[in-house]
Amino acid sequence: MLAGLFRALQHRRSRALPALLLLVAGGALAADAAGPATPVRDRYAEIAETIRVTPQRAVPLLAGLQAEARRTPAEHARFLTLSCDLSHRLGKHVEAVQLCERALQLGRQAQDNDIVARTLLSKAYAVFGLNESGQAHQLVWEAERLAAGSADINLRILVLISSGESFAEEGNFPVALNKLQSAVTLARQSGAPLQIAISLNALAYLYGEMREFDKGFDAIGEAERLAEQINSPGRLAIFKTTEYILAVNNGDVARGTKALLSALALERGIDADAMVANTLVNLADAYLKEQEWRRALTYAQQALDQAEKLHDDALAATARVNVGQAYLGMGHLAEGKKAIELGMDWYQRSGNKPDQQGVLVEYGDALERAGDLAGALAAYHRERALSNELFETRRQKAMMELQEKYEADKRQRQIEMLRQENQVKSTELDNRRLQQRIWWLLALVFALASVIVGILYRKVRHANAQLEEKNQELKLQSARDPLTALYNRRHFQEFMRAHQEIERRGADSQGNRSGEEMVSAMFLLDVDHFKHINDTYGHGAGDAVLREIAEALRDILRETDMIVRWGGEEFLAFLPAVPRNSLDEVARRLLAGIPERAIDYQGTRLSVNVSIGFAPFPLAPGASDISWERAINIVDMALYLAKGHGRNRAYGVRGLAGLDPAAMDEVEHDIEQAWRAGLVDLSIVTAHMPALRMAS
Ligand code: GH3
Ligand code: MG
Ligand code: MG
Repeated sequence: MLAGLFRALQHRRSRALPALLLLVAGGALAADAAGPATPVRDRYAEIAETIRVTPQRAVPLLAGLQAEARRTPAEHARFLTLSCDLSHRLGKHVEAVQLCERALQLGRQAQDNDIVARTLLSKAYAVFGLNESGQAHQLVWEAERLAAGSADINLRILVLISSGESFAEEGNFPVALNKLQSAVTLARQSGAPLQIAISLNALAYLYGEMREFDKGFDAIGEAERLAEQINSPGRLAIFKTTEYILAVNNGDVARGTKALLSALALERGIDADAMVANTLVNLADAYLKEQEWRRALTYAQQALDQAEKLHDDALAATARVNVGQAYLGMGHLAEGKKAIELGMDWYQRSGNKPDQQGVLVEYGDALERAGDLAGALAAYHRERALSNELFETRRQKAMMELQEKYEADKRQRQIEMLRQENQVKSTELDNRRLQQRIWWLLALVFALASVIVGILYRKVRHANAQLEEKNQELKLQSARDPLTALYNRRHFQEFMRAHQEIERRGADSQGNRSGEEMVSAMFLLDVDHFKHINDTYGHGAGDAVLREIAEALRDILRETDMIVRWGGEEFLAFLPAVPRNSLDEVARRLLAGIPERAIDYQGTRLSVNVSIGFAPFPLAPGASDISWERAINIVDMALYLAKGHGRNRAYGVRGLAGLDPAAMDEVEHDIEQAWRAGLVDLSIVTAHMPALRMAS
């Protein structure tokens, strides 16, 4: 690019600017091809070329396109990009940047990457014109990324060239070389001679910077031949200028001068005023190098005239310095100093210190050669002061850049640390959330389990309660006779086993209460002629009679007495505590009470008598060894006796003669005989009621 190349070649005051041609690399051909019937897009290419070579002439051309260009955003953007290029070529860089920015907006709106990339390049050149090389390079590389996949091969060549030059300006020659060689290859593939020539020119320039002059001359030679083939004097002039730079740097000033003279002729042929002015300055510079003061002065003065005509102050300043140097060379001190000071004045005003410093060095040399040692010394001092100032500025800039880089690194590290911290925190948060979820889940499972266990527990409890109830019922059922609800024989047996235990333990304490001897007693009852009831009235009637007898027994006896259905129509009453001498009375109550309870069966009153055998238990004082089973046997014998003696009566054991086992056997087996033998004392109780009575 302009300033980069400018500095790199140390041609502080020359205006050799080959890189500028890049602006129109995407364009088609020379201005000669332009015509009114050409499509807009082609005309853009022609105008682009005109802008490069004769920018003043492009002003009316571009203005003529304005109305047409507004038809689509894409065309409008392209038009604005060209306007940006033109402004830049005319030295109006700020305006150029603004135009490019508007073009960028439209291009992005139209989502046309090619236009955006092309405009970014134009903006890069405009920005470069504002001495912002770093920013310019970034814009170029952004354009390169956008254009990478473009179908527009010219655009891709253009970005490759610009990218290569940007890398060269940043001192990265290997990458620059790679880019520019790629540009040449791509251009050769496209087969367009202009693109090949333009790429070769950029490559030649880079070779010059790399001091590979032979390769540089080869490349520029090919470019020049191509420019001749396509009949483009403007391009040829540009390539000749590159050849000049290569030659001068290679120490071949004569070849350089010859190339410049060719360029000048070509430029004049097409009225490329700006290029002519540059070439004149370069020629003056070349002759100054050869110490051909007169020729140098001629060209420098022509350059000055041209620059003033073009209102190019920078070029004018350079021309003045050249004029001054030529005068000094010729020994015209006053004129020389005056011209140089005038030129220097502009450098000072523009703040271009590096160029100013370069001028001062040459100024000092020239004054010394002219014999003005005091002046040379003054120039030298000014140069030193400027140099120190520059050094200080550079140092500060470097420091600031370092500081900025350090800050940026620090910030980056902080961002990285924060990022990591955030990551750790978010992981922790995730973990905590997960843990919480697990706890909730566990709690839920636990709650559910509790509920289920609770339900099951209640069910089990309920079942247990029911079971208990059933068991009680069963127990009750197993203890009771279903017909009469009296205790059954089995229950009585169980009861007696338990009772006997109690009796045995408390045998002696069993005794008096208000002077009477208290005993247990057993009464065995058998219904008289019950068969007859069944036979006459049916089994149902018999059942009803049995139920009624049970009811009667409950009424006659105490609640604490145990009444048992002993067999079919046999009942046993066990009275746990009665006075010994009240047993006959109980027998009498039973004999009288049962027949009283007549039942009404289908219009017939039914009542029955009973026969009873009874005994106290133990059978006699001191007879607690005799089991209740044996006692019952004896009672049964007594009942048998009652039956035998006419029924409806009770026979009870009143006492025993002794407890001799043989005697007991006798009583058990034949009570009547034992009674007669006096082994047992019986009481006979009869009812006052008549015996079996059956009324209808
Ligand atoms: P006795 O005066 O000699 O005792 O004469 P009886 O008819 O009462 O004696 P027996 O032993 O000959 O007859 C008893 C009858 O009792 C026989 C049986 O059919 C009847 N019986 C036993 N259990 C039941 C019962 O639960 N319901 C009914 N309806 N009859 C029963
Ligand atoms: Mg019987
Ligand atoms: Mg009977």
